[in-house]
Amino acid sequence: MKELSVDVAVIGGGPAGLAAAIEAKDQGADHVIILERDVELGGILQQCIHDGFGLHRFGKRLSGCGYAHHFIESVAEKAIDVKLKTIVLEITDQKIIYAMNEVDGMMKITCGAMILAMGCRERTRSQVFIWGTRPSGVLTAGTVQRYINMEGYLPGQKAVILGSGDIGLIMARRMTLEGIEVEGVYEVMESPGGLTRNISQCLKDFQIPMHLATTVVRIHGNKKLEGVTVAQVDENRQPIQGTQRFIPCDLLVLAVGLIPENELSRQLEVEMDSRTKGPIVDEHFMTSIPGVFAAGNVVTVFDLVDYVSLTGEIAGRGAAKFIQGKLNLQMPAKDVLPGDSVNFVVPQRIRTVNAEDSIPIYFRVKKEMRKVEVTATVDGQVCMRKKHAIALPPEMMVETIQLEKIHEDARELRVSVKVG
Ligand SMILES: Cc1cc2nc3c(=O)[nH]c(=O)nc-3n(C[C@H](O)[C@H](O)[C@H](O)COP(=O)(O)OP(=O)(O)OC[C@H]3O[C@@H](n4cnc5c(N)ncnc54)[C@H](O)[C@@H]3O)c2cc1C
Repeated sequence: MKELSVDVAVIGGGPAGLAAAIEAKDQGADHVIILERDVELGGILQQCIHDGFGLHRFGKRLSGCGYAHHFIESVAEKAIDVKLKTIVLEITDQKIIYAMNEVDGMMKITCGAMILAMGCRERTRSQVFIWGTRPSGVLTAGTVQRYINMEGYLPGQKAVILGSGDIGLIMARRMTLEGIEVEGVYEVMESPGGLTRNISQCLKDFQIPMHLATTVVRIHGNKKLEGVTVAQVDENRQPIQGTQRFIPCDLLVLAVGLIPENELSRQLEVEMDSRTKGPIVDEHFMTSIPGVFAAGNVVTVFDLVDYVSLTGEIAGRGAAKFIQGKLNLQMPAKDVLPGDSVNFVVPQRIRTVNAEDSIPIYFRVKKEMRKVEVTATVDGQVCMRKKHAIALPPEMMVETIQLEKIHEDARELRVSVKVG
């Protein structure tokens, strides 16, 4: 088995991994390596040919590929080692990575710090319990996106989309532009799952109807999909008798949510957060295992790639400091907790002694609220207040907290959102 020793190893070459590797190198890590199972760097962004990426970071509307390109160029300039078509099979808490590819065969990579940046994957029909047969023509939105944008296939002629998250909305527009008739978008919840701008630009502009509180209850067809039955649902999301309707179609596009890809993290038994479905991280995006960091959608599903890149940079900086022995890990961590109306917060821990001047706290609200005030409290004392016109569950919120406000003996920081 080939053996390698590196300072920082990054698993996953999507935007989180790219940003993490660049920052680790910039902060003094000598040998940085990116391990990526795909044939090229960029992660999911390579299949995102629509624009709207990088508004925060670059102040312009780039395509996903365009956004990724900036980072891929920088990786090449900085002579960061990249191994493509390389899958990581196993990681250990001794920071050893077992990976393989067709050139090197099996590899044992020992590293000073490891950054988990494996992204997320899509939920499938079995996770949303749709009855019926198993014909071809039932695909996740990401697969359809990859087929159309990268492989050059049109997977159907008439589509029904289940799920109104951003990926479903973007695919509604994309399929329409390619000549696939999109019959409608069906959403089991009473409110849409995607960003307001995507509802307007991807559905309204193309007169594609959205049906709220409605879901697909059955799939029909033997070898090939022949249609689906949809039904309205009650407040418990159960189908309402008498509302069933058959829709003939040859493509059912499932856009029913993303799950952080944490099989490798679980092998390590890093502490996980049941709300984010990712590892619990501190202000450096370090997990519960010293020297193992996480960034991007592995931690939680962020809407904006700008946030993903930012978390990569924080983790990359943390990893460089870790190998230089600059992180004080003796200090007890303070909990960062979700308060009123907040579903989760990231990071979930802070050790202020290690921290820089301020840190971003990412969070999502539980329900739609207007004219809200976000407050952060340290052991009950308010340390930050900010007003927002609207807070929506699908849109990640972020507030910057000045760390000088969190005194050394503090036990917890709590983020709450209230109307007022
Ligand atoms: C199908 C789909 C469509 C999306 N569309 C959009 C969109 O239109 N707009 C948007 O803003 N966001 C979109 N997203 C969200 C998008 O994932 C993020 O904006 C961003 O790409 C996340 O970056 P990341 O680096 O965390 O993960 P990813 O971009 O997913 O990158 C993770 C990388 O890790 C690699 N990897 C995973 N496991 C291993 C392993 N064991 N060994 C080696 N390599 C591994 C993967 O191959 C991948 O390249 C989409 C997500 C999905 C799943």
